Amino acid sequence: LTSASDCYFCQKLTRLDSAPDDDLVWRFPHSVAFLGPWQYFQGYCILVARRHATELNHLAVEVRRAFFDELCLLALAIEEAFQPLKLNYELLGNQVPHLHWHIFPRYADDPSRLKPVWLALERAEGDEAKKRRLQEGSLERPTIIKRLVEKLSLLSSASS
Ligand SMILES: [Zn+2]
Repeated sequence: LTSASDCYFCQKLTRLDSAPDDDLVWRFPHSVAFLGPWQYFQGYCILVARRHATELNHLAVEVRRAFFDELCLLALAIEEAFQPLKLNYELLGNQVPHLHWHIFPRYADDPSRLKPVWLALERAEGDEAKKRRLQEGSLERPTIIKRLVEKLSLLSSASS
């Protein structure tokens, strides 16, 4: 399957040209990076495979490796742009079964930095103030994207 008509990410990928500019970060050959909704974790991105697949082992070897290299390039850009203490990588797909990596930068001033992000998100469920605090970072979304794009432009011109 290259796409699934009822898949959230497949549909999103068909509308890239009309994606809001506070959402799309970078187009790689095998994946597309979007800025994630929880920018308390400044630079949090979601890297979506261009091809519809539910498991990494369903991808052809070359595609899987390229997807992984793009993940690492995006991680490097996040690291260089924001100097987090640590990056968390998660590929779950329970809610949207189309391969996508969550890359969460973790920072020293996060009191829950030893725990997975999801626990904080779960605690914020039903609490609008908490939710907003996790959605809004100290920078505006377009500014965060601009910083990532600057790094990605440098990194991709260096690697080609
Ligand atoms: Zn899909």
